[in-house]
Amino acid sequence: MANSYLWRPYTQMKTAAPPLEAVATEGVRIHLADGRALLDGVSSWWTACHGYNHPHIRAAVERQLAQMPHVMFGGFTHAPAERLAARLCALLPQGLSHVFFTDSGSVAVEVAMKMAVQSWINVGERGRTRFLAFREGYHGDTLGAMSVCDPDEGMHAHFDGWLPRQVFAELPRNAAAEADLDRLMSDRRAELAAVIIEPLIQGAGGMRLHDPGVLATVARLARRHGLLLIADEIFTGFGRTGTFFACEQAEVVPDIVCLSKALTGGVTPLAATIASEEVFARFWSDDPAKALMHGPTFMANALACAAANASLDLFETEPRLAQARALERALRAGLEPCRDLPGVVDVRAKGAVGVVQFAAPVDRETLKRAFVDRGVWVRPFGDIVYLAPALNICMEDLAVLTDAVCSVLEAHAARTLADTRA
Ligand SMILES: *Cc1c(COP(=O)(O)O)cnc(C)c1O
Repeated sequence: MANSYLWRPYTQMKTAAPPLEAVATEGVRIHLADGRALLDGVSSWWTACHGYNHPHIRAAVERQLAQMPHVMFGGFTHAPAERLAARLCALLPQGLSHVFFTDSGSVAVEVAMKMAVQSWINVGERGRTRFLAFREGYHGDTLGAMSVCDPDEGMHAHFDGWLPRQVFAELPRNAAAEADLDRLMSDRRAELAAVIIEPLIQGAGGMRLHDPGVLATVARLARRHGLLLIADEIFTGFGRTGTFFACEQAEVVPDIVCLSKALTGGVTPLAATIASEEVFARFWSDDPAKALMHGPTFMANALACAAANASLDLFETEPRLAQARALERALRAGLEPCRDLPGVVDVRAKGAVGVVQFAAPVDRETLKRAFVDRGVWVRPFGDIVYLAPALNICMEDLAVLTDAVCSVLEAHAARTLADTRA
């Protein structure tokens, strides 16, 4: 069934193994055309936070489909978008009160960057067109978003000469790094529009954690130097770190927040960029040139907004945050046996994310095949093997995932040792 008409993500089409054919999803399982089912350890790129095909979301989407799947957002508004925007603002820290809907995480980041740059232009501060970003960060695949990804891991070499040049720093994990960041912001503030950060977990850059204190330091320094703070909660939002938003754990109030991934419970694409009252005020004018210059065709798609509203209902009616916190304990305990394997340098968990990190890049294709053979869907990348399952996965299924990681890695370590001795 491998279809030569399709071009696949991040894939060398000549050498890649053919993809598996999925035919149905239910709960935490992906059913394949050949009759097998895989227990999903990564909730479809971290989106399906309630598992697949939750009846409450499905019913809401079906109702919306019958009534109005989509209407252009230029000139129109509709109840699903109005209601979703109000609910997101009520969940976010006070002051974040203006929601711009788009259709993917990368575009939510692009919009946040355009918002930041244009907000300075609108108040007459020209030249503030760069961003301060952190090493090992990931913010998406479009031009602006790529430019703030880690400069070594983040495709910069692929697109050398085309990407805007940004300013990179280490996260202020210690006093020396904090002093460096303070100096960097002070030196470059005239050209900086904003600081962009993934709060508490740098996801696609390798599931690296930092303490709430580090995030609070970044926010304090940004404030001190008059820089806007963009929190990219695309991965961390909606309970993934154990609180609804990661920023809550540091009591940080960003100027702009980006959301996507689990926003619709993994059912349809949707993203949001939410601005503070102060940022919004810089666009509030009689001058048409000061309007925010962005507007996607499928902005605030009604089906997607209905799915997102239904997903938020589930956060109200089911104990998702408590489940995420319980997962942190279970992931930490379940993956702990990997710590003693040769080549493993760290085992860690935060909320519903569990990570085994190696000293060197893992053999991802071999491992992926071994996981599929065991009936689980786990996708190692870089130097890590990680789990980020649905927040409501039951403890029995979670044990199947952590046991699979432990035994696949154990067999892999034994083979690697045998190879090096041979
Ligand atoms: C996935 C991700 C993005 C990009 O989202 P897409 O929907 O893939 O464009 C941006 N930022 C973070 C933190 C992400 O995890």
